[in-house]
Amino acid sequence: MPETVFSKIIRKEIPAKIVYEDDLALAFHDVHPQAPVHVLVIPKQPIQSLAHVSEADVALLGHLQRVIQQVARQLQIDETGYRVVTNIGRDGGQSVDHIHYHVLGGRSLSWPPG
Ligand code: AMP
Repeated sequence: MPETVFSKIIRKEIPAKIVYEDDLALAFHDVHPQAPVHVLVIPKQPIQSLAHVSEADVALLGHLQRVIQQVARQLQIDETGYRVVTNIGRDGGQSVDHIHYHVLGGRSLSWPPG
């Protein structure tokens, strides 16, 4: 898989506002926030997208769900509610080819998305 900007963030070669980190995952504020809270949760392992996940990644994906939960609590959007989005491929609007979950909250979010 080619390098992405997220690989550089994981290696701390470029700055990011990190809100959570462990051996497997990293969460940081999106540089172009679409809501008062907009955090990206990523695995340190470079998987291109949800479409590229295999059986071997199932535990890691479960862990990421728990990280999302923890970040939402930490940023105090767990009680008001929030949205978790992962964009996949061209039509999904994916611009960084390293799987990531957008965690959006802090305002009422409309549905459906554009
Ligand atoms: P997507 O369009 O779903 O692939 O989302 C990629 C997200 O990464 C976008 O919301 C960008 O604003 C965000 N992004 C790109 N570069 C950075 C960066 N250096 N730090 C934080 N967020 C970034």
